[in-house]
Amino acid sequence: MRIRTRIAPSPTGIAHVGNMYTALLNYAFAKSQEGKFILRIEDTDRERYVPGSEQVIFSALRWLGIQIDEGPEIGGPYEPYTQSKRLPIYVSHAQALVKKGKAYFCFCSPERLAAMRKSQQQRGKLSMYDGTCRRLTAAEAKKRAGSEKHVVRLKVPKTGSTSWRDLIRGDISFENFGLDDQVLLKSDGFPTYHLAVVVDDHRMRISHVIRAEEWISSTPKHILLFRAFGWKLPEFAHTPLLRNPDRSKLSKRKNPVSVVWYREHGFLPQALVNYLCLMGWSHPEGKEKFSLKEFIDNFSLERIQTTQPIFDVEKLRWLNGLYIRETKDQKLIGLLRPFVPKGAKASMLRRILPLIHDRIHTLEEFNDYAEFFFTKPQVDAKLLLKQSKHSQLETLRKLKEFMALLNTLQTGEFTAFKLEKRSRELAEDEWTPKKLFMTVRVAITGSTVSPPLFDSIHILGKTETIDRVKHAATILKTSS
Ligand code: GLU
Repeated sequence: MRIRTRIAPSPTGIAHVGNMYTALLNYAFAKSQEGKFILRIEDTDRERYVPGSEQVIFSALRWLGIQIDEGPEIGGPYEPYTQSKRLPIYVSHAQALVKKGKAYFCFCSPERLAAMRKSQQQRGKLSMYDGTCRRLTAAEAKKRAGSEKHVVRLKVPKTGSTSWRDLIRGDISFENFGLDDQVLLKSDGFPTYHLAVVVDDHRMRISHVIRAEEWISSTPKHILLFRAFGWKLPEFAHTPLLRNPDRSKLSKRKNPVSVVWYREHGFLPQALVNYLCLMGWSHPEGKEKFSLKEFIDNFSLERIQTTQPIFDVEKLRWLNGLYIRETKDQKLIGLLRPFVPKGAKASMLRRILPLIHDRIHTLEEFNDYAEFFFTKPQVDAKLLLKQSKHSQLETLRKLKEFMALLNTLQTGEFTAFKLEKRSRELAEDEWTPKKLFMTVRVAITGSTVSPPLFDSIHILGKTETIDRVKHAATILKTSS
């Protein structure tokens, strides 16, 4: 059997982490079996359609390194891969089912259906179509279809059960009496998800349907449809849903869920992919950090756990930090570009990077540490005094002394090592090095947290450093 998997996202505006997780598993499974991975856009629900979503999905997949073999952008033997461009296919398939007696026209108005549902609810019954139009004769239905608005419904058997062996969950079975006579084709000629997904999975030769567990209850309907058409069933595998750390379903209220958010906040695609690989799956050697290739080499659906994995952004940040740490400076400078001020010179970044490289967990954090190199900081007089633990006058005196020291240093002596050594000589009983260095730090960076002080001064240079200390002194002098 040729292995062909797919993802079939609906274009709702974002590349959801959950969808990308499903994509990753489909991709890994296909690639571990020398199969093909297909992207199909399920855009028949026009109310949920957000223009531009396809591009968002394509670029998220590309960014993550998940390559599609067939899809809307690149084409393939079963074009088109966008459902709204396949409408006549669904119509003819729905008609074929009616002809075979496996589906029927339903003329019930929305008002009648609403009243039916209400009465079912009041009587504590399952809310299901009551079969009124199922009982029409074929001739009667055909005649009315010529002039009356109608949908096409699947004739679901009312007895027996529908089962399958799920590749992740084992045997699953549904009693048919609980399954509704599903609408296949709406009155506007658009297919429902159920019809379109089955027709396309069949026509696109999908061998394995690997999708999130929220679709489990749809699967018996799909199986009945495959059978009604007389088609061979694909294999089904239902993957666990990702959860927020508080175990609620992954949602944007509690966690960023858009892949674009992660890209824009300085996560590396390799780290995000690696983290998604760890969702419900573990490396046979217990490794936490591994490449997509290694995932594919070791992948099997049976290794996927059914317990719902927690998607924890903090853990992802930690892993992202590991990836940043092993990225060479040269490469990292390129990656940092969108996160640093526009005019930042590469030579400057190259000098700053070694001071910060091991501290950051995301590319975005780089600027938190490095911004003062590019922009003069806001200095707060209160913060200066809090660090110096001296009076305003005394702090000013010390800052002046420090400036004088800088002035005496020749160019060749302006190294981090020399700077620190000479600055330590300024220490006095009441001016411990800690107090002095923290005061200077606030004066030149605006903050109590910064990369190593003397390395930073070295990079800023003598003139700029003196200028900043002078500026901080003026602020202190004019503060009350
Ligand atoms: N269009 C569905 C979605 O948005 C596809 C579900 C499936 O894979 O069958 O996820």
